[in-house]
Amino acid sequence: MTQELAPWASPVARARIAEVAAELTDLSPEGVSETVRRALDDHARSFDREGIVLYAGTNVMSPAAQAVSEALVSGRPSMGWPGEKYQAGLDHLDTLEVLAPTIVARLLGARFAEVRSHSATMANLAVYTAVTEPGDTIAVLPERAGGHTSHHAVGAPGVRGLRVVDLPYDSGAYDVDLDALPGFLDRERPRLVVIGASLLLFPHRVGAIAEAVAAAGATLLYDASHMAGLVAAGRFQKPLAEGAQILTFSTYKSFGGPPGGVIATDDEGLAERLSTAVFPGLTANYDAGRLAPLAVTAAEIMAGGGAYADTCIANARLLAAALAEEGFTVAGADRGFTDSHHVAVDVGDGRAAMARLAEAGIYLSAIGLPWQEPGEPDRGLRIGTQEVTRRGYGEDDLRKTAATMADVLLR
Ligand SMILES: *Cc1c(COP(=O)(O)O)cnc(C)c1O
Repeated sequence: MTQELAPWASPVARARIAEVAAELTDLSPEGVSETVRRALDDHARSFDREGIVLYAGTNVMSPAAQAVSEALVSGRPSMGWPGEKYQAGLDHLDTLEVLAPTIVARLLGARFAEVRSHSATMANLAVYTAVTEPGDTIAVLPERAGGHTSHHAVGAPGVRGLRVVDLPYDSGAYDVDLDALPGFLDRERPRLVVIGASLLLFPHRVGAIAEAVAAAGATLLYDASHMAGLVAAGRFQKPLAEGAQILTFSTYKSFGGPPGGVIATDDEGLAERLSTAVFPGLTANYDAGRLAPLAVTAAEIMAGGGAYADTCIANARLLAAALAEEGFTVAGADRGFTDSHHVAVDVGDGRAAMARLAEAGIYLSAIGLPWQEPGEPDRGLRIGTQEVTRRGYGEDDLRKTAATMADVLLR
């Protein structure tokens, strides 16, 4: 194919796109089916079956959740509340639409759960839509502290026309700088404060943060995208009970469900604004097909008594200790490395290390670390144990993985 996909992309991206495009010669239905079949099979082999997936932002659904995933339902828009649907004939899907938010809310111990966002990014945009006006300021974690794209001006807040400022951060505490926070809030006057990060080794001190945020008249959002599997199991921390007004998260990371986003709150007025922002604000067909595996996943977490979350955390501590023994600089060493399923390793050049590990079949991502200089390329590797835990990894497997990582990167 000769047409160029993204002439504005970086030279590296354009070269890779051109390399892939050169192979795509047969655009007949048979040719395209064959091409996508091969891509899917090769991916399933190299990633799902032969790979060691340590990427923190993914998971595999349980067999029971996979068993109720039906793609056909995704193309059956069922819009509006049960009883006042825009379309006729979809009454059986009402069951999914009542069950999924009911069980997710019960699991979280929250009064309201809005489950119709297609992603946590859209859930966050719904929060911005519900609690801010264009031109307002929001305060978020800096990128080097795991502040996510959907918290920063380049992402969803920019779409809402918000001014975004970085919260003061205490890298020694791996948390918001509590001493600097009241003065900062006084100066910047944010309407909304966002905590919860893409790398979270230790819980936020939500109670103290919430107190300062409330005194400044702002709303506190905790984005538990990565921590949701732990939080839902009652581990790590309980953001709503500790003082956050709103909780958002991705349903396909540690939570282990289908792709999607959840927004939870105990406040009925907020819940109404958030729900209206999601539908009809930001979605039309909210994909009832997702709700079946979401409900099953939530039921499994509820029945599991926290065993999966506990093993994820125990495995993270084992892997972190093994990596430290191999000679890596592992974050949080003075605090037992981690209280979550995340581990962070300072390798100096995270992108280069990620590429070398990928050649050895170990898949993860680079990440900024709290102590790096502003503008410095990501120093860290971020590891999540949620997927290898589901695959049954124990101490021996984790030690072997640490040794392979050392072979690739240190020896
Ligand atoms: C991954 C992530 C998101 C985005 O989740 P999607 O469901 O992929 O949109 C949002 N916030 C944080 C903190 C994340 O780590």
